[in-house]
Amino acid sequence: MSRVRILHTNPALGPLDYRVPHGMAVEYGSVVRVPLGPREMTGVVWELESLPTETVGDNRLRNILEVYDIPPIGAPLRRLIEWTADYYLAPPTSVVRMALSSAAALEGGRTVIEYRLSGKQPDKVTSQRAQAIERIGERQGLIRELATIADVSEAVIRGLVKQGVIEGVEVALDTPFIAPDPAFAPPALSPEQTAAAEQLVAMVKAEAFAPVLLDGVTGSGKTEVYFEAIAEAIRMGKQTLVLLPEIALTEPFLRRFTDRFGHAPVAWHSDLRQSQRRRTYRAIASGEALVTVGARSSLYLPYRNLGLIVVDEAHETSFKQEDGVQYHARDAAVMRGHFEKIPVVLATATPAIETRQQVAQGRYAEIKLPGRYGAAQMPTIEAINLIETPPERGRWLAPPLVNAITQTLARKEQVLLFLNRRGYAPLTLCRHCGHRFQCPNCTAWMVEHRLTNRLQCHHCGHIEPPPSACPECKTEDSLVACGPGVERISDEVGLLFPEARRAIVTSDTLWSPAKAAEFVGRMEAGEIDIVIGTQLITKGYHFPELTLVGVVDADLGLQGGDLRAAERSFQQIMQVAGRAGRGAKPGHVYLQTHEPTAPVMEALVSGDTESFYEAETEARRFANAPPFGRFAAIIVASESLGDAQEVARRIAQSAPEVEGMNVYGPAPAPLAMLRGRHRQRLLVHARRALDVQDVLRDWLGGLEWSRHVRVSVDIDPYSFV
Ligand code: ADP
Ligand code: ZN
Repeated sequence: MSRVRILHTNPALGPLDYRVPHGMAVEYGSVVRVPLGPREMTGVVWELESLPTETVGDNRLRNILEVYDIPPIGAPLRRLIEWTADYYLAPPTSVVRMALSSAAALEGGRTVIEYRLSGKQPDKVTSQRAQAIERIGERQGLIRELATIADVSEAVIRGLVKQGVIEGVEVALDTPFIAPDPAFAPPALSPEQTAAAEQLVAMVKAEAFAPVLLDGVTGSGKTEVYFEAIAEAIRMGKQTLVLLPEIALTEPFLRRFTDRFGHAPVAWHSDLRQSQRRRTYRAIASGEALVTVGARSSLYLPYRNLGLIVVDEAHETSFKQEDGVQYHARDAAVMRGHFEKIPVVLATATPAIETRQQVAQGRYAEIKLPGRYGAAQMPTIEAINLIETPPERGRWLAPPLVNAITQTLARKEQVLLFLNRRGYAPLTLCRHCGHRFQCPNCTAWMVEHRLTNRLQCHHCGHIEPPPSACPECKTEDSLVACGPGVERISDEVGLLFPEARRAIVTSDTLWSPAKAAEFVGRMEAGEIDIVIGTQLITKGYHFPELTLVGVVDADLGLQGGDLRAAERSFQQIMQVAGRAGRGAKPGHVYLQTHEPTAPVMEALVSGDTESFYEAETEARRFANAPPFGRFAAIIVASESLGDAQEVARRIAQSAPEVEGMNVYGPAPAPLAMLRGRHRQRLLVHARRALDVQDVLRDWLGGLEWSRHVRVSVDIDPYSFV
């Protein structure tokens, strides 16, 4: 090849052609460095025909500068990148970036100098230095990374290096990962588990595309079962990717994996420091990393020799990326499996209706594990009618739940109270004039956080100290908290059970894998009696002594009118209920609700999940909602309301007449303002078979708008704000 097309990572430009200088060997997928104007870019050599671009004469081509010393990006991943760009209407340059997510991995050099505390004290302790020393603790990294960890400037870190308080250490970048051992500690599987595992193992051996739903109740041993499929892939020398919905789940996963396979898998998440990221990326690209566990971004890494993908908790909507390339990692994982010709296991206790529909149509296989493993029984679920037995004034826990907590504590067992709301109270207002604290950048209330003593916007992160007087009417001490968050529930628990040891589990308190590990340790050691947590605590954890789950506000998820509200509520409550009674002791779940006769509540209490799913599915079919019809959201955002409205109106006016497609809006999005931008929304509703992407490409491609207006398209949206 003397002329090649390069898909580079500059989102402002399309693919570009380059010349291959004499003596340089490239192939499709080679990762290269190329000149672009006065600068240089990373890119990937691509097939000419699959990426159309403007043609440039041979004589105007510039030379490729270097081919990086990593294996070429394989054809299956190249096809996935094209599919993602096409399906989600994203620039291919933005998608390929996700595959090249460690710039450091491309550079040579087998060692790097990292820094850590030496134990020596500084000559003069300033507050910045004290802060740096305290926060760095046991951690190690580049100067830039330490400055970020310590929240001080790089100059402060350099000053400490000069004094010998921080020392450099040489780190080898390419230390190999130790391969997991499939024979390390295989469990004795039950007959049902054995049957399920055998089917999965056969799929791995077949080396063919095979999407499969592994549908088993919480505690049925889904993890143990898919571990057998991973063991087979390891024996075959093939790589496995396990996708988890959140990085907080990595920690418990690593532990279980290590117990089963003797060594930890390779973890890919945002908390890796640069040297770890580089080492991991290279091991993935070379095929040496046999098992990788990560959040959705790990799907686009260049695995060299993939044999199996597992999507755990596959129903989780956090697999949908909401900014940048708005892809759904579950669906993209199935596509990757298609291109790689390998099985893809979707493991969940509460499958998404979309996935059930794929099974119903025969496109996905299904394996069921209907009962819990061993002596563990499914927990009992009971509704507490908040109208008949309300909590005391100003309290949130109703008497029947308080009784159940009392009894559980008396038996020395653990309690989990679930409320999906961080902070102390979702709304703060002035008792005198009614002023409500709103975020200046978003259509959202400021949420009071008492642990950190501030008001915070959960959309943009804006923070304010709580004022002592109302900013509107200037009355002193007039602010009242409305409604509960986990911190407020924790206070109430403290009043009711002063002896009980409490822990609040949210993204505010469990913000790193280390924090998660510490929490698990304390739970297992019996140092916590009552956990009060958000959805972060609902998944993955296995605490045998936890026997009572109280859902503080079971109606919460039903608000908002989103088309998946009932399904999501059901999944979330089943999931949290699944934390109760996982060991030998039976579990009990209480749902506090104002609507005990709502179909979701009745399904949860009766355990008749099949009827619930069928009713939901029929309602979707009737409304032509996904998976029977499809949506695409068009969001027009601008700092100027007028500009946003004008562009949204023009988009609406130029909507093509297409059979089986309706366009609603424009209207202000429910989150009418986000991060200082006004948002207008159009919703496209179409029949399943319509190629909406093609329609949208033509339609939006014919329009122009100013740089100050951002138009984004969300295909198969999960968030309707
Ligand atoms: P799920 O993923 O379906 O919720 P898990 O795989 O977490 O279920 O299993 C629940 C608990 O039961 C775990 O502690 C697991 O180690 C244990 N378990 C499941 N199957 C077996 C088995 N065959 N032998 C020993 N322990 C098992
Ligand atoms: Zn905000």
